[in-house]
Amino acid sequence: NKLIALTFDDGPNHNTIKVLNILEKYNIKATFFILGTNIKKHEKIINRMNKLGMEIGNHMYSHAITTKLSTKKIKEELDKTDKLIYDITKKYPTLIRPSYGIYNKKFQKITDRPIILWNIDTLDWKYHNSKNIANKVFEGLNKNNKNNIILMHDIYNATANSLEIIIPTLLENDYQFVTVSELLYLTNLSNYQY
Ligand code: ZN
Repeated sequence: NKLIALTFDDGPNHNTIKVLNILEKYNIKATFFILGTNIKKHEKIINRMNKLGMEIGNHMYSHAITTKLSTKKIKEELDKTDKLIYDITKKYPTLIRPSYGIYNKKFQKITDRPIILWNIDTLDWKYHNSKNIANKVFEGLNKNNKNNIILMHDIYNATANSLEIIIPTLLENDYQFVTVSELLYLTNLSNYQY
């Protein structure tokens, strides 16, 4: 089976509701790498995310570049975000995506949790155009049609709209949408670092 994991970074914000509505409509699970600073004001959204079976990962607290932080500060950022997520979901996130996907050996030593990057970048933050975002996904899949991790941002309207193109098209083409943890499990990988 062709597997695909949609991942959404930097949320949640109000627009995340629209993303969740579409994922729920198609009964699809995705992974959200959320920012610590966005948690308190969006507890309801995170609660719904969790109840819908979405996977929630740690994207740091302040979206700082991890290579510029001390070990102590990195730990603080991860811990704070873990705790805020736990307070709502009663689960600690098992996956980490460092902000911008930037990290080094120091960061790796701090955690034994999988560090998850991506292999298809939709550049949705740049183009804000749903057709363009969908095309980035389809182009990426043409190059490598198995086991893909897609980078998107749930905080943009165009990204939410692109899902109405991406999801039905890929379902017709026999893709199976999974969370990142499911992808790791099904492909027997401990880490997904492209
Ligand atoms: Zn980010």
